[in-house]
Amino acid sequence: MANTSGRVLGVNGNMVTVEFDSAISKNEVGFIHVGNDRLKGEVIRINGNTAALQVFEMTSGMSVGDRVEFTDEMLSVALGPGLLQQIYDGLQNPLPQLAEQCGFFLQRGVYLDAIPSRAWDFTPVAKLGDSLRPGDTFGTVPEGLFTHQIMVPFNLADVPWKVVSIKEKGQYNVREIICTVVDPKGRKEDLSMVFTWPVKKAIKLYAERLRPDETLVTKIRIIDTFLPVAKGGTYCTPGPFGAGKTVLQHMTSRNADVDIVIIAACGERAGEVVEVLKEFPELTDPKTGRSLMERTIIICNTSSMPVASREASVYTAVTLAEYYRQMGLNVLLLADSTSRWAQAMREMSGRLEEIPGEEAFPAYLESRIAEFYERAGKVRLRDGRIGSVTIGGTVSPAGGNFEEPVTQATLKVVGAFHGLSRERSDARKYPAIDPLSSWSKYQGIIRVEKVEYARQILFRGSEINQMMKVVGEEGTSVADYVTFQKSELIDAFYLQQNSFDPVDASVPIERQRYTFDLLFKVLASEFALEDKRQVRSFFNNLRQLFLDWNNVEFDSERFKQIEAQIDSLYKGKQASVDPDAEKLI
Ligand code: ADP
Ligand code: MG
Repeated sequence: MANTSGRVLGVNGNMVTVEFDSAISKNEVGFIHVGNDRLKGEVIRINGNTAALQVFEMTSGMSVGDRVEFTDEMLSVALGPGLLQQIYDGLQNPLPQLAEQCGFFLQRGVYLDAIPSRAWDFTPVAKLGDSLRPGDTFGTVPEGLFTHQIMVPFNLADVPWKVVSIKEKGQYNVREIICTVVDPKGRKEDLSMVFTWPVKKAIKLYAERLRPDETLVTKIRIIDTFLPVAKGGTYCTPGPFGAGKTVLQHMTSRNADVDIVIIAACGERAGEVVEVLKEFPELTDPKTGRSLMERTIIICNTSSMPVASREASVYTAVTLAEYYRQMGLNVLLLADSTSRWAQAMREMSGRLEEIPGEEAFPAYLESRIAEFYERAGKVRLRDGRIGSVTIGGTVSPAGGNFEEPVTQATLKVVGAFHGLSRERSDARKYPAIDPLSSWSKYQGIIRVEKVEYARQILFRGSEINQMMKVVGEEGTSVADYVTFQKSELIDAFYLQQNSFDPVDASVPIERQRYTFDLLFKVLASEFALEDKRQVRSFFNNLRQLFLDWNNVEFDSERFKQIEAQIDSLYKGKQASVDPDAEKLI
């Protein structure tokens, strides 16, 4: 590896200007020496003989004239077995191990292997003479719940490589050479279980991209039924501070129907991240009964860590997601918050003295956000298996104003929008997703026409509610009042979900379908109620029964009892059924 060196010309926060002794290419990663410390940095702009370098660590103590060395590589992550259960920072430094070595205060220039050195039970899949391409599997190791595929490194040339030696089944260290391949020109490569991949380049070793047409079940009613997410799709959750973005993402990470969850805690306060780190290892995975961490990777870059590594952290996370997708797994990447990521871009762009765009964000903000979300996708791999990366990002616009560049740029590229509203979170209506302004382009678990019918009632109910605030209940007709009560019933029984109730916290598809059907029959009914007092007391009783229903085990005796009570109550007052809706029942 040809090393180029240079000399520091100037330091401005994480931005360092360097003059080289010889030519250098963009995206090279370099090390800057300050005393005996080595700080990692990346070239981001070149101008003649000088370049701007973003350094991923604190640069205090660095001065003009310090020596810089470049190692001719791009900012990369290590890929291999042992990634799961890890807690990394944005540059894939394993944080707990660092803490063990350095104590409470991180020292500068300490780099530990991202992938722990340990032995794995290797089973070869390829045979001598087999012809493999990058991304093809030559062996497997069991990693927790999964069969981790050991693949030909993605960064080798895309030509057929012939296996000339491969180790037998047995225990090998993760960095031991276990396979040797040669390309058609006879060039030899020794392979271990680990290789690196530049984070800013998407991994595209698949046969084709597929349409994200399968619902990603989150067990959150308002999402699965009204605002679905798809495997391989993208969605965003904007909302003001304290509206419940982080709690919603945690609920999703616990219950989502995926194999692996990657959490990118990006730029939020350290206290909140500590909560995740403490909470996660204690949670059990509802699917397997084992620790949730076994299928989780946490990338955490709090607001107190350098902005440059925050900028890198979402790319690190998505690269790990793509790596596991390459094994035919379904991966969910949750980024919290993409606004903090955008702010890191803004800060660096400012230091680079680039011409600022809207709200001082760089002019390329929109394309960076689009590039990031475009790395989601459901793909058919070359061996026919299907894998997916789903990306969900929170956006935290100041004051909850969605008319700002990050929210707007995100809305242009995502497939579903779950906007949290201050009004709903203040009223403790959780999850505080606003059902009226949010949307989704994906297929949910319930027939669209039925969902649309319910949504129309919500819209109408909200209009009537606005009107009632002006003219009062007296000025409202009985028919309108019934519609309003129906919309309140949908909201209370179906849209709100208590994340602290053991039963209500996660609702499987069958239960959602079953309970929505009964709700739909109520919505489709006209009732023989004479005045608003009767309407109110009828709906109060009905709502209470529905709410009780949410807290009992599906299909239990009690569940059936309450169902029978609801049935007799609403049928007792039913005058007719809306013919449009009847066709759908
Ligand atoms: P944000 O990330 O949007 O700033 P959080 O997700 O941290 O907000 O939520 C703030 C607070 O709101 C939480 O500490 C919790 O008390 C409350 N909260 C949010 N979502 C729920 C929920 N689903 N159920 C109950 N309380 C919630
Ligand atoms: Mg938060």
